[in-house]
Order: sequence, then structure tokens, then C-alpha cells
Amino acid sequence: MAVVISVANQKGGVGKTTLTLNLAHALANRGRRVLLVDVDPQFNLTFGLIGLKVLEYENNNVGTLLTKESNVEDTIIPVRENIHIIPSHLNLSQKEIEIINSYNRERRLEKALRPVLPDYDYVLIDNPPSMGIFLVNSLTTSDYVLIPLELSYFGVIGMQLMFNLMKMIKEETNEGLSLLGIVPNKFTRQTKVPKTRLQELRETYPNAPLLTTIPQSVALEKAHAQGMSIFEFDGDGRAAKAFTKLAGEVIEIVERR
Ligand code: ATP
Ligand code: MG
Repeated sequence: MAVVISVANQKGGVGKTTLTLNLAHALANRGRRVLLVDVDPQFNLTFGLIGLKVLEYENNNVGTLLTKESNVEDTIIPVRENIHIIPSHLNLSQKEIEIINSYNRERRLEKALRPVLPDYDYVLIDNPPSMGIFLVNSLTTSDYVLIPLELSYFGVIGMQLMFNLMKMIKEETNEGLSLLGIVPNKFTRQTKVPKTRLQELRETYPNAPLLTTIPQSVALEKAHAQGMSIFEFDGDGRAAKAFTKLAGEVIEIVERR
């Protein structure tokens, strides 16, 4: 039965999509079956994996799944060995209004995914940088939240918003939600600032588990732009090693239960 993980941070550009994509590959490399779900109307994750083919799935994507126009089986696309995706689509933001006005709107994703959970080890959901109905659906469906974080002043302060949202979700729709960890991203040793922020983070949120830090990496950015995972682009580099280590940590935490 799959463990469901939301990769979330309401702040934009912190590395949610990069983390989702590369963690999926690292888990797949370790033989885990991964289902990706892209609930971001920007469809960056989908585009990264299938490119312009994203346009072909107008009638079968995460939006039509949430409005019950599609069956879940019809929305799943195999993209790599052990990696499948339920794609996002250009029309997802239009669907948002329809979903907001529908019955049981917070549980649409949970209900839709239920039949396929036995087919996977992990479901990883990539979320938009906003606190809307898509993020609420993701968190309601998830066992865990994984938070990528940029080590800037506002990045660290902004974590409180995520914690507030998690608290609300736990009270209202999903008691079982836990924080899997925070993943500091774009870490650089060239200035002292990130290190100071890391200390600040530890002091401000002493109970939040800190996972492997992902380095600032040109290779990661280039891979992203070319629709490749870091393992396909620069498999021996620092960033690939960091994601392999992160996958090990995730497996350790999730599978020891
Ligand atoms: P959004 O909130 O818009 O969905 P996001 O949180 O998903 O953004 P990404 O799209 O993953 O963030 O990353 C934003 C940009 O930063 C991308 O260009 C990506 O290639 C780059 N990036 C992410 N992580 C790193 C890293 N560790 N080193 C270098 N570049 C990175
Ligand atoms: Mg993104």
C-alpha cells in the first residue's frame, strides 16, 4: 500500500518540483514503484517528464480526475521504469472553480487515488505555491509532508505558514498527517548566510526533522531545463548523491513504521 507524500511550500521557486522529480527517480532507482501526481496548474513536473505531450491529455488529467470526468486508471501515464504520473494540464486552473463548488471538495483526490494505492510504494504529489483547494486536497490525502526550503530570511519565517496549514488540516480533514522533514535546498558554502539560516531554522523549529541538504547546483538547473532528472544528466555529481542520500532517509523513516 503506497505511502502518500506531499511536497509542499506556499513559497514559489524553492524547489518543490525539482525535489519531487529527483526524489521519485532516486526511489525508483532503489526499486520502489512511484506514482507522481501533479496538482500544480503550472504543470512544470508534467512538462519535465513528458514535454509538449502534456497537451494531449486534455480529457484525462488531474483536473478531470478531481471533477470525476475521468477514472483514475485512465489518467496514469508510465514515464520511466517504476515511475508513473497523473499529469496536470493547462486547463487545471479553470477546473479549480468547479472543484471549489463541488460536494466533498477537500477529499476529491483522496477518493480518486484510493483504488490505485495498492499498485505503488510511494505517491509523491507536487503542489502549487499557493494555499488553495489543490494543496488542501493533497494534504488531506497525504501521510507525510516534505518541505523544501530556501535558506533565506523570508524562507525560514515563511515556514510558520506551512505549519499553521498543517495544523488546520490535522484538525479538520486528516488527523494522521505528519511532517516527514524539511529539505534545505540551494545550499552554498560560498557565503556564511545559509549556514546561519540553518542554525536559525534549528532554533526556531527545534522539533522539525532536518533532512539531507541539497546543494546549489548548475547541473540540477540544466537538467531541469532539459526535462531530465539529475541521474540522467549528471549521475555522479554532488546533487545526484544528495538525492540518493535523501531517498535513503525517506525510506528509513517511512518503511521502518
Ligand atoms: P513553483 O513554486 O513555481 O512551483 P518550485 O518550488 O517547484 O517552484 P522549482 O521549479 O523546483 O521550484 O525550482 C525553481 C528554480 O530553481 C528552477 O529553475 C530550478 O531549476 C532551480 N533549482 C531548484 N533547486 C536548485 C538547486 N539545488 N540548485 C540550482 N538550481 C535549483
Ligand atoms: Mg513547482
